Amino acid sequence: EIPTNRLYSTSVAIKKIVKPLTKFSHKGTFGHALIAGGSYGSIGAIVLASRAAFKTGCGLVTSYVPRCGYQIVQTALPEALVKTDPAEQLITTYSMDTAAYKALAIGMGMGTAEASQQALYQLLSDLQEKEQAPKLLLDADALNILSLHQSWLSMLPKCSILTPHPKELQRLIGSWENDFEKLEKTSEWANRYQQIVVIKGANTAIVLPNGEIHFNSTGNPGMATAGAGDVLSGVIASLLAQDYSAADAAILGVYLHGLAGDCAANNIHQKSITATDIIEHLTDAWQHLL
Ligand code: AMP
Ligand code: MG
Repeated sequence: EIPTNRLYSTSVAIKKIVKPLTKFSHKGTFGHALIAGGSYGSIGAIVLASRAAFKTGCGLVTSYVPRCGYQIVQTALPEALVKTDPAEQLITTYSMDTAAYKALAIGMGMGTAEASQQALYQLLSDLQEKEQAPKLLLDADALNILSLHQSWLSMLPKCSILTPHPKELQRLIGSWENDFEKLEKTSEWANRYQQIVVIKGANTAIVLPNGEIHFNSTGNPGMATAGAGDVLSGVIASLLAQDYSAADAAILGVYLHGLAGDCAANNIHQKSITATDIIEHLTDAWQHLL
């Protein structure tokens, strides 16, 4: 028997979530996303996430990187606004005016240096005091840092989106015996902390704080490639910036990302798909939905 809170992201269900474009839309309509992270040697994670955010349709993207990432991002992605951390190679502070942004995705390529841990703590403290705060997505090293400091979990704004791959999930919630236990444990965790957890993998599951679990139907093994997760973070952040609710942004974002991978697989052999190919096919994915 399938529990009633197990749901499937079919194309019919997804089309109900998608908001149509209107003639009078302007850059502001589509929102401003802040994509933050990177470190020396991993600035590409922020380039990928930022480019994916544009291709998913938000109006403005600011990339926040260590100083060494400034020219890299400006050159790779002229559409982006770039802000830099005072440090050359690492994120050491997230003290910034977050009120301007509708969405903040954080952690890709960031590393887990002590200074970066403190930067995340400072951000979570700041967000607690803000009346107007961006919706938050945490990925990669932001999740690894939270795993090291589980007492910080209670500081997370409600209904933030966490996007762990299996290793990151295990660090966060502990290990499991089988897939059923993994889902059960994650669901309990999501309920306890009132967070949305996207368990990435072959059948990505979006675990909501209300006990619902949405299983994604798109994607292929060719997407198991460096940077694919960074692309997903950018896609979901972009939808958050476009005023989708956190649950809808997670469900639609995972679906779009998988569909873009499937469209890529029509043109490119699965073995050769790169994260950039997934980004380039987001336009085909939208074509199926709008
Ligand atoms: P990351 O490990 O953070 O780069 O994330 C990997 C991304 O690729 C996630 O969005 C996964 O859902 C996706 N992915 C990995 N393996 C598969 C697979 N076998 N089938 C479909 N998607 C996958
Ligand atoms: Mg990742």
